[in-house]
Amino acid sequence: MKKTIVVVGSSFAGYTTALTLAKLLKGKHRIVVIDKQPDFVFLPSLVWHPFGYRNVDDISFNVLPIYDDLGITFMEAIVYGFDLKDQVVHTQDEDVHYDYLILATGTCANFDSVKGLLPGKTAWSICSLGEAEKTRKAWKAFLKKPGPLVIGATQRAGYFFAAYEFLLNALYHLMKNNLLGTIPIHFITPEPYLTHFGIGGLYSGASNCEDLFNRYDLNWHTNAEIREVKKESVVLETGESISSSFTMLIPQFVGTNAIRSTRKLADRHGLIRVNNQFRHKVYKNVYAAGGAVYIKPKEYTPVPCGVPRTHTVSEAMAKTVAYNVASHIEKGARVSISNNRLYEYCKQDMDHLSLALFGEQTTPHRDLDFIAKGSQEKWANLTIENYIESSFDSEYLKI
Ligand SMILES: Cc1cc2nc3c(=O)[nH]c(=O)nc-3n(C[C@H](O)[C@H](O)[C@H](O)COP(=O)(O)OP(=O)(O)OC[C@H]3O[C@@H](n4cnc5c(N)ncnc54)[C@H](O)[C@@H]3O)c2cc1C
Repeated sequence: MKKTIVVVGSSFAGYTTALTLAKLLKGKHRIVVIDKQPDFVFLPSLVWHPFGYRNVDDISFNVLPIYDDLGITFMEAIVYGFDLKDQVVHTQDEDVHYDYLILATGTCANFDSVKGLLPGKTAWSICSLGEAEKTRKAWKAFLKKPGPLVIGATQRAGYFFAAYEFLLNALYHLMKNNLLGTIPIHFITPEPYLTHFGIGGLYSGASNCEDLFNRYDLNWHTNAEIREVKKESVVLETGESISSSFTMLIPQFVGTNAIRSTRKLADRHGLIRVNNQFRHKVYKNVYAAGGAVYIKPKEYTPVPCGVPRTHTVSEAMAKTVAYNVASHIEKGARVSISNNRLYEYCKQDMDHLSLALFGEQTTPHRDLDFIAKGSQEKWANLTIENYIESSFDSEYLKI
């Protein structure tokens, strides 16, 4: 009998799952993707947008023609909850029945976790395209009237990479505007040392990063917990108050409202607990992939740090989910993938200088990891970013 597979979310995890499923199921079953927007936004490029290095069209594309080609139904709708017993997804317009449900709703920024952290009022943010656009205007205004600069991440933050990358881009822009060396710059992070990233660091990462920060006379605060963000300062738990004319902080990320509002679907942070086949621990026909999935930190830090889920990790989860759902339907063997085997790749850019990071798995005790800096890494990073963006846009994912 024809089954209906509903994928909620159409970004790295949802898009990859839907395309992989379409190739595996070859039109024998119905695939429905629901997202509040038909545009895929390449979130990692939001660190470039405020500086004018990328415009909206460069970092987004419409998924509809691709889904049409593959016989995937796309519904543009906001999902506000799930009935897991009756197997229904509630949207603002209609209820959608499913035989299999794949949750790829990612995460959302939890600005409330730090007192006074109000994007657009006391600080700027790059967690969504809308926020990055406002930050772009604010940064332009800041360059005309520069003052102390604070960049970093709050306690429990996810995506530390974004804070570092924003900082490096900001340094380059300041240099181009002959402002480097004229204003105090502070980097605040809950990480126990620079480039820990919530994943236990990478070989030689901290020393490379410290060299770079020293070269540009940056002040850095590790193990930092923020008590309050004010319009013109950031106050740490130690009582230290750091003046700021422009503050950009990466916050904690939690599960989305639709997930949090459904009882017994996720933990208290709205993150979904799955087994090593990315299948929900209670509801056997529900799977999850990407940012929405809980990943256990292997290492606890004095100030809590979130575990990042990069897009490469999200795509690996998504492909595993697609294989498992296909084999669930067709009664084949299941694929397992351990959280430890999901690798990380990330890049940090600053004009001619770049840090390239590679870790074979998300948590410490990796067989292979490195961090390197230099002009060749810049070249490698640009090549990889262009490759990833173009493979998402034009070519269907290879299975
Ligand atoms: C500023 C920033 C920089 C980053 N930099 C990097 C980097 O350099 N490298 C890297 O690998 N990763 C980076 N990441 C992380 C990367 O973006 C995530 O790993 C990735 O987006 C996770 O993909 P996802 O599909 O799980 O979730 P998301 O990309 O968050 O997508 C979730 C989708 O679900 C939809 N959705 C959610 N709720 C609903 C609802 N209720 N109804 C309908 N639709 C809904 C959303 O519209 C969205 O399309 C960065 C993230 C940020 C924010």
